[in-house]
Amino acid sequence: MKPIKIVHLYPERMSIYGDYGNIIALRQRMDWRGIKNSVENIEVGSKIPVDADLIFIGGGQDKGQVIVSEDLALKAEPIKQFVESGGALLAVCGGYQLLGEYFISNDYGQLKGIGLFNVVSKATNDRMIGNIVVQSDRFGRLIGFENHSGSTEYIGPAQPLGRVLKGFGNNPTDKLEGIIYKNAIGTYLHGSFLPKNPKVCDWLIAKAIAKSGQSIKLKPLSDSLEKRARSSSIGRP
Ligand code: GLN
Repeated sequence: MKPIKIVHLYPERMSIYGDYGNIIALRQRMDWRGIKNSVENIEVGSKIPVDADLIFIGGGQDKGQVIVSEDLALKAEPIKQFVESGGALLAVCGGYQLLGEYFISNDYGQLKGIGLFNVVSKATNDRMIGNIVVQSDRFGRLIGFENHSGSTEYIGPAQPLGRVLKGFGNNPTDKLEGIIYKNAIGTYLHGSFLPKNPKVCDWLIAKAIAKSGQSIKLKPLSDSLEKRARSSSIGRP
């Protein structure tokens, strides 16, 4: 079995509000199933490995996004080709913003995105902070934590990740959250996102396995702890 390769983009600059927990959840849910896996950290100046099966980019402060935006421009084509060829990808908050067309920061002006997602984002003066609950047609109820100034809107055909039941999501008005494009997900849900939403984690793992050219069935996991964490989180104000 070829190990499933996770590429973690900019872990030093883009991993806030527990986002590293997404890497832990992906690896643990593969380990529990005996699926070999590895992680390669890619920082500024490094190339996207050609044998990537899953790419993850977390959230970050505006300041960190300035440098990442410049470097992402050099990685734009390989990332887009990776997703167009069925690669699994998760982008959280600041990472989600920079995989869209642009993010306009209050302090640093317009930061160019790579144009993978049909979204644009603009910082507002009121941060959107708190626990968030989203209803997704594909994944059911999603829970997390959000903390962003960026207000995001769709600028073309887009499949939202879900409808906001509690919290803000993309912006304070349209009650939509995130985006799904092929096997790539953009979301504002920190928390960490995947440990509390195992369905999404397993969906990404299955897509990564398919991308690796292997056919491995994912045996079900009990998820008793995850279910307890979800029920206690959903009740939070
Ligand atoms: N700096 C961006 C914003 O404030 C992203 C924040 C984040 O990644 N949590 O919207």
